[in-house]
Amino acid sequence: MIWYILGAGSLGSLWATRLARAGQPVQLLLRDRQRLAAYRERGGLTLCEDGRETLYPIPAETAGHGGTPIHRLLLASKAYDAEEAAASVAARLAPDAEIILLQNGLGSQQAVAAHLPRARCLYASSTEGAFRDGDFRVVFAGRGQTWLGDERGGPAPAWLADLESAEIPVQWSGDILERLWRKLALNCAINPLTVLHHCRNGELANHAEEVAGLCDELGHLLHACGYTLAARELQGEVERVIDATARNFSSMYQDVANGRRTEIAYLLAHACNEGRRRNLAQPRLEAVHLRLRELLRQRGLPEA
Ligand code: NAP
Repeated sequence: MIWYILGAGSLGSLWATRLARAGQPVQLLLRDRQRLAAYRERGGLTLCEDGRETLYPIPAETAGHGGTPIHRLLLASKAYDAEEAAASVAARLAPDAEIILLQNGLGSQQAVAAHLPRARCLYASSTEGAFRDGDFRVVFAGRGQTWLGDERGGPAPAWLADLESAEIPVQWSGDILERLWRKLALNCAINPLTVLHHCRNGELANHAEEVAGLCDELGHLLHACGYTLAARELQGEVERVIDATARNFSSMYQDVANGRRTEIAYLLAHACNEGRRRNLAQPRLEAVHLRLRELLRQRGLPEA
Protein backbone atom coordinates (compact mmCIF):
# COMPACT_ATOMS: atom_id res chain seq x y z
CA MET A 1 0.00 0.00 0.00
CA ILE A 2 1.47 3.35 -1.04
CA TRP A 3 1.68 6.20 1.45
CA TYR A 4 0.62 9.34 -0.41
CA ILE A 5 1.89 12.52 1.24
CA LEU A 6 0.10 15.75 0.38
CA GLY A 7 2.01 18.72 1.80
CA ALA A 8 5.75 18.20 1.50
CA GLY A 9 6.53 20.81 4.18
CA SER A 10 8.11 20.28 7.58
CA LEU A 11 5.97 17.49 9.03
CA GLY A 12 5.00 15.95 5.68
CA SER A 13 8.68 15.61 4.79
CA LEU A 14 9.51 14.24 8.23
CA TRP A 15 6.97 11.45 7.71
CA ALA A 16 7.86 10.85 4.05
CA THR A 17 11.60 10.49 4.64
CA ARG A 18 11.23 8.14 7.60
CA LEU A 19 8.73 5.95 5.73
CA ALA A 20 11.04 5.85 2.69
CA ARG A 21 14.03 5.05 4.91
CA ALA A 22 12.09 2.08 6.31
CA GLY A 23 11.52 0.80 2.78
CA GLN A 24 7.82 1.60 2.63
CA PRO A 25 6.41 2.86 -0.69
CA VAL A 26 5.88 6.64 -0.58
CA GLN A 27 4.60 9.08 -3.19
CA LEU A 28 4.68 12.86 -2.76
CA LEU A 29 1.81 14.94 -4.09
CA LEU A 30 2.90 18.45 -4.97
CA ARG A 31 0.77 21.50 -5.60
CA ASP A 32 1.54 22.09 -9.29
CA ARG A 33 4.03 21.65 -12.13
CA GLN A 34 6.35 24.43 -10.90
CA ARG A 35 6.69 22.79 -7.47
CA LEU A 36 7.25 19.42 -9.14
CA ALA A 37 10.00 20.90 -11.35
CA ALA A 38 11.62 22.56 -8.31
CA TYR A 39 11.47 19.22 -6.45
CA ARG A 40 13.05 17.30 -9.35
CA GLU A 41 15.86 19.85 -9.53
CA ARG A 42 16.65 19.09 -5.87
CA GLY A 43 16.67 15.36 -6.58
CA GLY A 44 14.51 14.50 -3.56
CA LEU A 45 13.76 15.40 0.04
CA THR A 46 16.65 16.04 2.41
CA LEU A 47 16.29 15.07 6.06
CA CYS A 48 18.69 16.75 8.51
CA GLU A 49 18.83 14.79 11.73
CA ASP A 50 21.45 14.82 14.51
CA GLY A 51 23.81 16.83 12.28
CA ARG A 52 23.54 14.34 9.39
CA GLU A 53 21.94 15.07 6.02
CA THR A 54 20.38 12.36 3.87
CA LEU A 55 18.74 12.81 0.49
CA TYR A 56 15.73 10.60 -0.23
CA PRO A 57 14.75 10.52 -3.93
CA ILE A 58 11.07 9.87 -3.21
CA PRO A 59 8.86 9.78 -6.33
CA ALA A 60 6.55 12.76 -6.76
CA GLU A 61 3.68 13.90 -8.96
CA THR A 62 1.23 16.78 -8.98
CA ALA A 63 -1.76 16.23 -6.73
CA GLY A 64 -4.46 16.21 -9.39
CA HIS A 65 -2.67 14.37 -12.17
CA GLY A 66 -1.67 10.86 -11.16
CA GLY A 67 -3.91 8.06 -12.31
CA THR A 68 -3.68 5.59 -9.43
CA PRO A 69 -6.43 5.57 -6.80
CA ILE A 70 -5.30 6.72 -3.37
CA HIS A 71 -6.03 4.39 -0.46
CA ARG A 72 -3.87 5.96 2.23
CA LEU A 73 -3.08 9.66 2.48
CA LEU A 74 -1.28 11.93 4.90
CA LEU A 75 -2.47 15.52 4.51
CA ALA A 76 0.17 17.68 6.18
CA SER A 77 -0.66 21.23 5.09
CA LYS A 78 -1.33 24.23 7.29
CA ALA A 79 -4.92 24.28 8.62
CA TYR A 80 -5.94 27.13 6.28
CA ASP A 81 -4.80 25.14 3.20
CA ALA A 82 -6.32 21.79 4.18
CA GLU A 83 -9.70 22.06 2.44
CA GLU A 84 -8.26 23.19 -0.87
CA ALA A 85 -5.49 20.60 -0.74
CA ALA A 86 -8.00 17.82 0.05
CA ALA A 87 -10.23 18.97 -2.81
CA SER A 88 -7.30 18.68 -5.23
CA VAL A 89 -7.10 14.89 -4.63
CA ALA A 90 -10.78 14.15 -3.91
CA ALA A 91 -11.40 12.61 -7.34
CA ARG A 92 -8.49 10.21 -6.83
CA LEU A 93 -9.58 8.82 -3.47
CA ALA A 94 -10.58 5.15 -3.41
CA PRO A 95 -13.95 4.44 -1.72
CA ASP A 96 -12.13 2.89 1.26
CA ALA A 97 -9.54 5.68 1.53
CA GLU A 98 -8.03 6.48 4.92
CA ILE A 99 -6.75 10.03 5.43
CA ILE A 100 -4.62 11.32 8.27
CA LEU A 101 -5.28 15.01 8.86
CA LEU A 102 -2.20 16.51 10.49
CA GLN A 103 -3.25 20.07 11.29
CA ASN A 104 -2.97 22.19 14.39
CA GLY A 105 -6.08 23.59 16.04
CA LEU A 106 -9.61 22.55 15.23
CA GLY A 107 -12.14 23.23 12.52
CA SER A 108 -10.13 22.37 9.41
CA GLN A 109 -10.36 18.63 10.10
CA GLN A 110 -14.14 18.71 10.34
CA ALA A 111 -14.37 20.84 7.20
CA VAL A 112 -12.27 18.33 5.22
CA ALA A 113 -14.18 15.33 6.63
CA ALA A 114 -17.51 16.94 5.65
CA HIS A 115 -16.30 17.21 2.03
CA LEU A 116 -15.10 13.60 1.94
CA PRO A 117 -17.93 11.60 3.58
CA ARG A 118 -16.82 8.26 2.08
CA ALA A 119 -13.25 8.45 3.35
CA ARG A 120 -12.19 7.56 6.88
CA CYS A 121 -10.66 10.77 8.23
CA LEU A 122 -8.32 10.30 11.17
CA TYR A 123 -7.16 13.36 13.08
CA ALA A 124 -3.59 13.71 14.33
CA SER A 125 -2.01 15.73 17.11
CA SER A 126 1.76 15.86 17.24
CA THR A 127 4.45 17.10 19.58
CA GLU A 128 7.21 16.38 17.06
CA GLY A 129 9.08 19.46 15.88
CA ALA A 130 10.54 20.20 12.46
CA PHE A 131 11.29 23.17 10.26
CA ARG A 132 12.40 23.81 6.70
CA ASP A 133 15.87 25.28 6.25
CA GLY A 134 15.46 25.32 2.47
CA ASP A 135 13.12 24.13 -0.23
CA PHE A 136 12.44 20.40 0.22
CA ARG A 137 14.81 20.24 3.18
CA VAL A 138 13.58 19.43 6.66
CA VAL A 139 15.37 19.68 9.99
CA PHE A 140 14.15 17.26 12.68
CA ALA A 141 14.21 19.70 15.61
CA GLY A 142 12.40 17.93 18.40
CA ARG A 143 11.42 14.37 19.14
CA GLY A 144 7.89 13.80 20.29
CA GLN A 145 4.79 11.76 19.87
CA THR A 146 1.84 11.74 17.52
CA TRP A 147 -1.67 10.72 18.56
CA LEU A 148 -4.15 9.51 15.99
CA GLY A 149 -7.87 8.99 16.44
CA ASP A 150 -11.22 8.88 14.74
CA GLU A 151 -13.90 11.37 15.80
CA ARG A 152 -16.55 8.91 14.55
CA GLY A 153 -15.10 5.97 16.49
CA GLY A 154 -13.92 2.63 15.12
CA PRO A 155 -10.80 0.56 15.68
CA ALA A 156 -7.15 1.57 15.30
CA PRO A 157 -5.87 0.73 11.80
CA ALA A 158 -3.44 -2.17 11.51
CA TRP A 159 -0.90 0.05 9.71
CA LEU A 160 -0.03 1.89 12.95
CA ALA A 161 2.63 -0.81 13.29
CA ASP A 162 4.14 0.28 9.94
CA LEU A 163 4.55 3.80 11.33
CA GLU A 164 6.22 2.47 14.46
CA SER A 165 8.61 0.38 12.38
CA ALA A 166 9.46 3.54 10.41
CA GLU A 167 10.38 5.22 13.75
CA ILE A 168 7.34 7.47 13.70
CA PRO A 169 6.10 7.23 17.29
CA VAL A 170 2.31 7.03 17.16
CA GLN A 171 -0.33 6.16 19.67
CA TRP A 172 -4.02 5.55 19.11
CA SER A 173 -6.26 7.92 21.03
CA GLY A 174 -9.78 6.95 22.03
CA ASP A 175 -10.65 10.65 22.28
CA ILE A 176 -8.60 12.57 19.75
CA LEU A 177 -10.87 15.63 20.10
CA GLU A 178 -9.88 15.94 23.74
CA ARG A 179 -6.18 15.81 22.72
CA LEU A 180 -6.73 18.49 20.09
CA TRP A 181 -8.76 20.64 22.49
CA ARG A 182 -6.06 20.39 25.17
CA LYS A 183 -3.43 21.51 22.69
CA LEU A 184 -5.65 24.27 21.34
CA ALA A 185 -6.29 25.64 24.85
CA LEU A 186 -2.58 25.55 25.66
CA ASN A 187 -1.83 27.38 22.44
CA CYS A 188 -4.52 30.03 23.12
CA ALA A 189 -3.14 30.72 26.60
CA ILE A 190 0.45 31.18 25.41
CA ASN A 191 0.96 31.96 21.72
CA PRO A 192 -1.18 35.10 21.22
CA LEU A 193 0.37 36.73 24.31
CA THR A 194 3.90 36.06 23.07
CA VAL A 195 2.98 37.93 19.88
CA LEU A 196 1.27 40.82 21.70
CA HIS A 197 4.11 41.20 24.25
CA HIS A 198 6.74 40.46 21.62
CA CYS A 199 8.49 37.96 23.87
CA ARG A 200 9.79 34.43 24.38
CA ASN A 201 7.52 31.93 26.11
CA GLY A 202 9.39 32.26 29.41
CA GLU A 203 8.79 36.01 29.62
CA LEU A 204 5.08 35.31 30.06
CA ALA A 205 5.96 34.64 33.70
CA ASN A 206 5.96 38.46 33.94
CA HIS A 207 2.34 38.49 32.74
CA ALA A 208 1.08 35.78 35.08
CA GLU A 209 -2.23 37.49 35.82
CA GLU A 210 -3.08 37.82 32.15
CA VAL A 211 -2.16 34.17 31.52
CA ALA A 212 -4.27 33.06 34.51
CA GLY A 213 -7.25 35.08 33.22
CA LEU A 214 -7.10 33.32 29.85
CA CYS A 215 -6.67 29.92 31.53
CA ASP A 216 -9.78 30.59 33.60
CA GLU A 217 -11.92 31.29 30.52
CA LEU A 218 -10.37 28.45 28.51
CA GLY A 219 -10.98 26.11 31.48
CA HIS A 220 -14.68 26.99 31.39
CA LEU A 221 -14.72 26.34 27.67
CA LEU A 222 -13.04 22.92 28.08
CA HIS A 223 -15.52 22.10 30.83
CA ALA A 224 -18.46 23.10 28.60
CA CYS A 225 -17.05 20.80 25.88
CA GLY A 226 -17.10 17.93 28.37
CA TYR A 227 -13.36 17.83 29.12
CA THR A 228 -13.51 18.29 32.88
CA LEU A 229 -10.09 16.84 33.67
CA ALA A 230 -8.44 18.89 30.91
CA ALA A 231 -10.16 21.98 32.34
CA ARG A 232 -8.78 21.27 35.80
CA GLU A 233 -5.26 20.59 34.55
CA LEU A 234 -4.99 23.52 32.12
CA GLN A 235 -3.45 26.21 34.31
CA GLY A 236 -0.76 23.85 35.67
CA GLU A 237 -0.01 22.55 32.18
CA VAL A 238 0.34 26.08 30.82
CA GLU A 239 2.75 27.03 33.61
CA ARG A 240 4.76 23.85 33.00
CA VAL A 241 5.06 24.56 29.25
CA ILE A 242 6.01 28.21 29.81
CA ASP A 243 8.75 27.01 32.13
CA ALA A 244 9.94 24.10 29.96
CA THR A 245 10.05 26.18 26.77
CA ALA A 246 11.17 29.44 28.37
CA ARG A 247 13.88 30.16 25.76
CA ASN A 248 11.64 29.36 22.77
CA PHE A 249 9.63 31.67 20.57
CA SER A 250 6.13 30.28 20.00
CA SER A 251 5.12 29.09 16.51
CA MET A 252 2.71 32.01 16.19
CA TYR A 253 5.44 34.45 17.22
CA GLN A 254 7.72 32.98 14.55
CA ASP A 255 4.99 33.12 11.90
CA VAL A 256 4.34 36.81 12.59
CA ALA A 257 8.06 37.66 12.83
CA ASN A 258 8.63 36.02 9.44
CA GLY A 259 5.61 37.67 7.80
CA ARG A 260 3.81 34.32 7.44
CA ARG A 261 0.09 33.73 7.78
CA THR A 262 -0.88 32.36 11.20
CA GLU A 263 -3.37 29.58 12.00
CA ILE A 264 -5.34 31.95 14.29
CA ALA A 265 -8.68 31.01 12.66
CA TYR A 266 -8.27 27.42 13.89
CA LEU A 267 -6.91 28.35 17.32
CA LEU A 268 -7.98 31.52 19.15
CA ALA A 269 -10.84 32.37 16.76
CA HIS A 270 -12.10 28.78 17.04
CA ALA A 271 -12.09 29.03 20.87
CA CYS A 272 -13.94 32.37 20.74
CA ASN A 273 -16.55 31.00 18.31
CA GLU A 274 -17.12 27.83 20.33
CA GLY A 275 -17.51 29.89 23.52
CA ARG A 276 -20.06 32.19 21.84
CA ARG A 277 -21.96 29.17 20.54
CA ARG A 278 -22.23 27.94 24.13
CA ASN A 279 -23.16 31.40 25.51
CA LEU A 280 -20.00 31.58 27.63
CA ALA A 281 -18.68 35.00 28.67
CA GLN A 282 -15.06 35.17 27.45
CA PRO A 283 -14.15 38.87 27.68
CA ARG A 284 -10.40 38.28 28.04
CA LEU A 285 -10.16 35.83 25.13
CA GLU A 286 -12.26 38.14 22.96
CA ALA A 287 -10.07 41.12 23.87
CA VAL A 288 -6.84 39.22 23.07
CA HIS A 289 -8.37 38.04 19.80
CA LEU A 290 -9.26 41.63 18.86
CA ARG A 291 -5.78 42.94 19.75
CA LEU A 292 -4.13 40.12 17.82
CA ARG A 293 -6.25 40.74 14.72
CA GLU A 294 -5.40 44.43 14.89
CA LEU A 295 -1.68 43.61 15.11
CA LEU A 296 -1.93 41.22 12.15
CA ARG A 297 -3.82 43.85 10.14
CA GLN A 298 -1.10 46.40 10.85
CA ARG A 299 1.53 43.91 9.66
CA GLY A 300 -0.42 43.26 6.46
CA LEU A 301 -1.11 39.62 7.47
CA PRO A 302 -4.48 37.84 7.18
CA GLU A 303 -6.63 38.35 10.29
CA ALA A 304 -8.09 34.85 9.94
P1 NAP B 1 4.67 23.71 6.34
O1 NAP B 1 6.10 23.44 6.60
O2 NAP B 1 4.24 25.09 5.99
O3 NAP B 1 4.20 22.71 5.19
C1 NAP B 1 2.94 22.77 4.61
C2 NAP B 1 3.05 22.18 3.22
O4 NAP B 1 1.74 22.09 2.65
C3 NAP B 1 3.90 23.01 2.26
O5 NAP B 1 4.88 22.20 1.71
C4 NAP B 1 2.89 23.44 1.19
O6 NAP B 1 3.41 23.45 -0.12
C5 NAP B 1 1.90 22.31 1.27
N1 NAP B 1 0.61 22.66 0.65
C6 NAP B 1 -0.26 23.61 0.98
N2 NAP B 1 -1.32 23.61 0.14
C7 NAP B 1 -1.08 22.61 -0.75
C8 NAP B 1 -1.79 22.11 -1.88
N3 NAP B 1 -2.96 22.63 -2.25
N4 NAP B 1 -1.26 21.10 -2.57
C9 NAP B 1 -0.08 20.56 -2.22
N5 NAP B 1 0.65 20.98 -1.17
C10 NAP B 1 0.14 22.00 -0.44
O7 NAP B 1 3.77 23.26 7.57
P2 NAP B 1 4.16 22.29 8.77
O8 NAP B 1 5.05 23.00 9.72
O9 NAP B 1 4.56 20.95 8.27
O10 NAP B 1 2.76 22.18 9.52
C11 NAP B 1 1.68 21.36 9.09
C12 NAP B 1 0.66 21.35 10.22
O11 NAP B 1 1.25 20.70 11.36
C13 NAP B 1 0.29 22.76 10.71
O12 NAP B 1 -1.06 22.81 11.07
C14 NAP B 1 1.18 22.97 11.93
O13 NAP B 1 0.64 23.89 12.86
C15 NAP B 1 1.22 21.56 12.49
N6 NAP B 1 2.41 21.27 13.32
C16 NAP B 1 3.65 21.59 12.88
C17 NAP B 1 4.76 21.27 13.66
C18 NAP B 1 6.17 21.58 13.22
O14 NAP B 1 7.10 21.41 14.02
N7 NAP B 1 6.40 22.01 11.98
C19 NAP B 1 4.57 20.65 14.91
C20 NAP B 1 3.28 20.31 15.31
C21 NAP B 1 2.19 20.64 14.51
P3 NAP B 1 4.49 24.50 -0.66
O15 NAP B 1 5.80 23.98 -0.19
O16 NAP B 1 4.28 24.38 -2.12
O17 NAP B 1 4.10 25.82 -0.07
